[in-house]
Amino acid sequence: MEDFVSESDSDYTSYWRDWFISSRGNEYFCEIDEDYLTDRFNLTGLNAEVSYYQYALDLVTDVFDLDCDDEMRETIEKSARHLYGLVHARYIVTTRGLAKMLEKYKKSDFGKCPRVLCHSHPLLPVGLSDCPNVRPVKLYCARCEDTYNPKSSRHASMDGAYFGTSFAHILFQVYPALVPTKSADRYVPRVYGFKMHAAAALVRWQGNKRDDMRRRLRKMEIESGFKDGEDEIDDEEDEDEEEDEEGVNEEEAGMADYGGAGTTVQAPGGDEV
Ligand SMILES: [Zn+2]
Repeated sequence: MEDFVSESDSDYTSYWRDWFISSRGNEYFCEIDEDYLTDRFNLTGLNAEVSYYQYALDLVTDVFDLDCDDEMRETIEKSARHLYGLVHARYIVTTRGLAKMLEKYKKSDFGKCPRVLCHSHPLLPVGLSDCPNVRPVKLYCARCEDTYNPKSSRHASMDGAYFGTSFAHILFQVYPALVPTKSADRYVPRVYGFKMHAAAALVRWQGNKRDDMRRRLRKMEIESGFKDGEDEIDDEEDEDEEEDEEGVNEEEAGMADYGGAGTTVQAPGGDEV
């Protein structure tokens, strides 16, 4: 947060939050409702975390009227930004907050997944710790279920605690329809079109594990998140494949409807169990 210079020290009294969320580098934040900020219950414990807590709160809620020098004002300003961030982490897991962040997610305000096979899936901010000043914010892709560094250095230096470790996942619990379907797409290393043996073996092992898991989930009638019928196993797997396959099929005889185990056969997508 250090790197952003407040341009509006002179007209700080009006609409501090408007100014704050429209400042460069603060694009990940949504606006916290006045009602939420003025309910003391929501701010429990933050007075110990934020210096000049009361002044900072006054600034955030536009009732700041202390006559002080610039240096003091800058200190309070900094506290206000910290306070806003900490309240933000609490606010975005409320119904209103989730709805606001959802709008931003839909507009890809947090960026898009850089992984090629995620096809520009929108990201969500995620903290790796709920304690302030531990780790900066990261971006979570629900499609590949991995986290990434923000592109801009302004975003990359923002505290992860301003978003929290749970927000992204609560969002998907509250809006389950947004959970993207899992994709079996994998990048396969190739040299002049030929798969490299060691890397291919790993991909195959992981593929088998995944297919085993899907079969188990299907048997227990648990939704695996994979699109049905999407699992054509590429006919990329070659002869050295067959050994692994036999092992798997012995155990799974009769329920290999996914055609898993990386055979050269396309998955029938049938439903027999
Ligand atoms: Zn991704």
